[in-house]
Amino acid sequence: MPDIPRVYEFQTSIETLRAHHWRCYVDSYRGCEFECQYCLYKGPGKYGRHVMRAPGSVEARPDFAILDIGTTTDPYQPIETQERVTRGILEAAREIGLPLFLLTRGTLVHRDVDVLRDLAAEGLVEVSFSIITPNERIASVLEPGAPPPSERLRVAEEFASLGIPVSFHVAPVIPGLDSEQELERLGARFVEAGGRHLFAAMLGGRKGFWNTFYDAMEAVAHEAHSIETFRAAYARDMDFSKGAADTCDSDQAREVLLPLRDGIAGAGGTFVSENYPYLTTGPLEGWIYRWKLPTVYDMTAWVRDQDEPVSWDDFLPWYLEFRPGLALVELVRGLWESGELFLGTYVARDDTSDELRYTSSDEVLEPASHTLVAKRIAA
Ligand code: SF4
Repeated sequence: MPDIPRVYEFQTSIETLRAHHWRCYVDSYRGCEFECQYCLYKGPGKYGRHVMRAPGSVEARPDFAILDIGTTTDPYQPIETQERVTRGILEAAREIGLPLFLLTRGTLVHRDVDVLRDLAAEGLVEVSFSIITPNERIASVLEPGAPPPSERLRVAEEFASLGIPVSFHVAPVIPGLDSEQELERLGARFVEAGGRHLFAAMLGGRKGFWNTFYDAMEAVAHEAHSIETFRAAYARDMDFSKGAADTCDSDQAREVLLPLRDGIAGAGGTFVSENYPYLTTGPLEGWIYRWKLPTVYDMTAWVRDQDEPVSWDDFLPWYLEFRPGLALVELVRGLWESGELFLGTYVARDDTSDELRYTSSDEVLEPASHTLVAKRIAA
């Protein structure tokens, strides 16, 4: 088997459960030459031009899990042309039948179209392209080392035409970059290019990169649709004393998320909101997702489908079908018992019984839940 980097179990948290199907992830490299100004993983000496191969090798095949590639560093660094670490992972996956979710801002992924086609033929891969704006001038400042968005779209379109499942990420969503109409068109464009899902995550501010990111935003002030919208949503002197990251409030987020949602949903795709799960327009069925662990959104859909209010004992057999680890089951049980698991969804506690049960509700807990979710993200 090719030598590929160590596989990590993804950190679990309520935010992860709300938003992601991730269970295991792998990094091909440490560092990233794309140098995105908003990169959450940026740290002194870690990003920029110092890209290294990630150490270690796979010791055991993760059992019944999707392997996520590209969650904390882009797998298609320029150095991949020579090192071929990412290609080695794809080849290993093909050899052992391991399902993969691959996220990139790179176009070098096109080199691996042969392996990706083989994986796609077995239903083992989805390639997600990250594009935060269609505006190439803005992208060239905010993501100076990455290929232009139009080139990423072109590769996505070709992959889709070859039968390789394609989706898109707008992560981070930055208020003020594009107008409502531009965002709506972008959502629709993703579907035209063959994408079925769009994952959206609001910009999170972190102390480590905030000043340089803010300078970059000011540098694109004349290109952006409304720099005032950005400034109103995110202060330069953001207070980082409360926690590691902070984000804008829910009304400001909705102004940018709703046009994106309407654009993709109107064209027939599914919108998935990381920060505001009730904005998600449908479950992620088929493709690679038949291996995924359920998100809170999926759990909500399952509870809503039941004729009766459900208890933990009703829910557990369904959940175990996804083969979560024991620690994750305990985490979900704790969140179930605290009521936190379904905050901001259409599922509510059933107060007609002494037993703790959940049932579907016509009420979405807003606007309180928006604030709650936003606070949790910021915490
Ligand atoms: S591509 Fe991803 S990992 Fe690389 S700098 Fe941009 S956000 Fe960070």
